[in-house]
Amino acid sequence: MSEIRRFVVTIDGAAGTGKTSVALELARRLGTDCLDTGAMYRAIAALSVDNGIDPTDGVALAECINNLGIRFDWDQTPPAILLGGNDISKRIRDLDVSSVVSIVAKQPEVRAVLVEEQRRIGREHPLLVTEGRDQGSIVFPDAAVRFFLEAKMDERTKRRLKQLRDSGMQVEDTEVQQDISQRDTIDSTRADGPLACPEGAIVIDTSSKTIMDVVDLMEESVKAFLSA
Ligand code: C5P
Repeated sequence: MSEIRRFVVTIDGAAGTGKTSVALELARRLGTDCLDTGAMYRAIAALSVDNGIDPTDGVALAECINNLGIRFDWDQTPPAILLGGNDISKRIRDLDVSSVVSIVAKQPEVRAVLVEEQRRIGREHPLLVTEGRDQGSIVFPDAAVRFFLEAKMDERTKRRLKQLRDSGMQVEDTEVQQDISQRDTIDSTRADGPLACPEGAIVIDTSSKTIMDVVDLMEESVKAFLSA
């Protein structure tokens, strides 16, 4: 791998397809960091909710991000997200943040700032696993290996419910399914960086697969690429 200057693996897909879990495990196996770009959009959504900034005011939000600074603490697993130096990793998972994140993520000014920051992180990591909606299509179009994850809606809802309940939240399945459906619609229809299967991506349906099954498949593809 030494002759390869930069090696990026992208994992894109909708909410609940298992991206975050498999990306973390794949990064662990490859011995590198995992970039959760959804956490960055969630941080901006938390900023909007907690400071009463209109989620459609992309200019104001972009200015705040530039002033406060958004960064990851890579020494933690999963990496913690810091806004203005404050660790907001737990806050960004709340449902009130989830319910506005796709509106915030639709604003071109917000996307421009975060895409630039993601590319900067990519330059700092010669080897990186990154996950989101536009990683293989827009942010790292030169990525070595791209994956696109899919899963059935009932399975996606079940996974999100478990994730939220495991973290101590009291949530109903109807509100979780509604959150996922609303985000799907906004994320896949926006003009800037919509959720889309990148050209040449390896598509994996995770509905009936465990995290380890999916990561085994991914690891095989990465190794096949490296030995080609
Ligand atoms: O991945 P996660 O579900 O945490 O992402 C939260 C939201 O952030 C998505 O619903 C989407 O609106 C936005 N997002 C995005 N582009 C990315 C990652 C996430 O627009 N690369």
